[in-house]
Order: sequence, then C-alpha cells, then structure tokens
Amino acid sequence: MTKTIFVTRQIPEVGISILRNKGYIVDVREKTSIPSQKEIMKALKKKPYDAVISLLTDKIDVAIFDAAPTVKIYSNYASGFDNIDTAEAEKRGVIITNAPAVSTSEAVAEHTFALMLSLAARIVEADEFVRRGKYDGWDPMNFIGTDILGKTLGLIGAGRIGGQVAHYAKAFGLKIIYSDVKRNEMIENESGATYFSTPEEVLKQADIVSLHVPLMDSTKHLINAERLAMMKKTAFLINTSRGPIVDECALVEALKNKIIAGAGLDVFEYEPKLSKGLVKLDNVILTPHIASASDTARNEMATLVAQNIVDFFEGKVPANKVN
Ligand code: NAD
Repeated sequence: MTKTIFVTRQIPEVGISILRNKGYIVDVREKTSIPSQKEIMKALKKKPYDAVISLLTDKIDVAIFDAAPTVKIYSNYASGFDNIDTAEAEKRGVIITNAPAVSTSEAVAEHTFALMLSLAARIVEADEFVRRGKYDGWDPMNFIGTDILGKTLGLIGAGRIGGQVAHYAKAFGLKIIYSDVKRNEMIENESGATYFSTPEEVLKQADIVSLHVPLMDSTKHLINAERLAMMKKTAFLINTSRGPIVDECALVEALKNKIIAGAGLDVFEYEPKLSKGLVKLDNVILTPHIASASDTARNEMATLVAQNIVDFFEGKVPANKVN
C-alpha cells in the first residue's frame, strides 16, 4: 500500500519533494493559520495516514493519537519537541522524531548575537528615533550603549545551540561561563568556558545571560523573580529557547523596575500572546520566534523531517528519533 503523509502546514518544498519522489502521497494542509487540535483531528480522520509532519505549534497528545491510530510516526519540524506527549507516544509504540539541523543551531546562535548586539548598541530604539524624524545632528550624548568586548556571557544550557553561541562568543572577545546538567568539555577546551553546576553563579556573574535549555517540567520558570534578582542591574537576558522557561510576568516587573537592564526575546510564555506591559517597555527587543528562520536552516529542517519518515518506512531507525 502506498504510504500517506499529512503535513499540518506548508514547509519548504525540498522536504515534500523527497517524500513525493519516493512515491508517497503527501497531503499538505493549505491554510497558513495555526490549526486547532480539533482541525488536526478532523484532517487525520479523513484517511488512514501512516505519518504526520507536525510543527511546534501543534499539540500532539492522547486526543490526536486516539484520532489517528494508523499514524506510526510524527516527524516534528523543530529541534524542540515539547509540543508532543512523547511518553504517551512511547506507550503506544508511536515514533517521534525532531529536526536538529546543524544550520538551525547556527541560525539560532546568530539570532542570539543579533539580539545581544542590538540591546548593547540600542539599535531598535535608535532606528525608531531616525524613522520618526528626530535625528537633527550628531550628538555626543545620543544613545550611549555598552560594548560587549571583555564582558561575561553566561550560558544556561550548553548543548547544540549553547555550544554554537560559545563558539561565536570567543570571536567577540567574551568571557564564557555556563551551567548545564551535563558538562560540555568541548566548549571548555575550545572557548575556555568555565562550568558551574547550578545556574545561580552564572546569573550572579554574567553581564549577558543567554538561555539554551529544552522546555521540560524541570526548566519551566527556570528564570523567575528570585533568579532575576540575582542578576546584575546592568545585565541583559536573552531567550531564544522556549517562552515558559522564563516567568514572563516576573520579567516584565524586573525590566520595569530596572532589576536588570534589558532583555531580548524571540519566544514568549503564552505565544503568540504577550504578557501585559511587555510591549510598552523600551528596554526589551521582541522577535516573533524567528531565530531559526534562515533559508539554509529551514531547508535543512525540511530535509531532515522527510528523511526521518523515509528511514522509518524503509525499516531503519530514524537518525533523529527522540523516544
Ligand atoms: P540541546 O538538547 O542540544 O541542548 C540543551 C542543553 O540543555 C543540553 O546540553 C542539556 O544537557 C541542557 N539541559 C537540560 N536540562 C537542563 C537543566 N534543567 N538545566 C541546565 N541545563 C539543562 O538543545 P538545542 O538544540 O541546543 O536547543 C536549545 C533550546 O533552543 C531548546 O529549548 C529548543 O527548543 C530551542 N530552539 C529554539 C529555536 C527558535 O527558533 N527560537 C530554534 C531551535 C531550538
């Protein structure tokens, strides 16, 4: 029987072509809006699909597994897979894969630096100032920011993306400290990073704190009011990982009350909704979860999600199986 695959939203064509060239039937949902869980269930009931390409905005849980008993693999188009109940999938013998593209780590690390440098050099505020016609000549006191050379970068989580950030950080002349549940000797050797077993010391010492942990029960609200208060008043917080890792209400208060100097956020606790007061702050830079949105990364991710399905259908263990 020809294998059939449902894709919950359009992904780069390169991935779809890999599957169609293998002779599989690929149904891509046409709407560009985020599908509700009900909508996904309705679509999956139309055919006995064998596989699904899901996105990080799709909640894949018991209800979906019940609605689509023929689906044996969910290939998630993301490095993270916190949108999927992997334990329930395992109980049912359903395979879950992710797409940890090398170029995704590079893109997210670059975006982390874009946020870091924009905060330090006050790029967004300055851009708005020029656009509003307020620039009436060079002023020695205008938009004084800070430099990052010689500052201390604190990484919380030093896996694929954290490791790549450390790699770039060395070139920027940053001193690197990090905490992780596992030591990363590669970044210690390559970038001279110093390890701390708990995040507290990193929060106290860093001028820039950058978060790169997965979202799990143990990392939800890892950054809360108490930990924000440990940071330097001059410090920046960068979050390109997952929104709920930061208690966003506590962050708004910390930014409002100048407990920390600024934040750069690509992800939000209740995205796409933003916590009250966040947009009013001028010491925060907000991007709409686009850290991995480079053309190279998105194409590589599409290739990986397709390859995971091909491998599974051809009786191999997909390289990116996570359960
Ligand atoms: P990874 O699995 O390679 O690295 C995560 C690291 O966190 C690991 O070294 C792990 O040991 C460590 N860790 C786990 N639990 C921890 C804890 N409680 N305390 C300290 N360290 C802990 O993951 P990655 O690919 O580097 O991704 C990092 C984050 O970036 C994830 O949250 C992922 O979802 C997110 N991400 C975001 C985007 C985006 O577009 N903004 C794109 C890709 C990935």
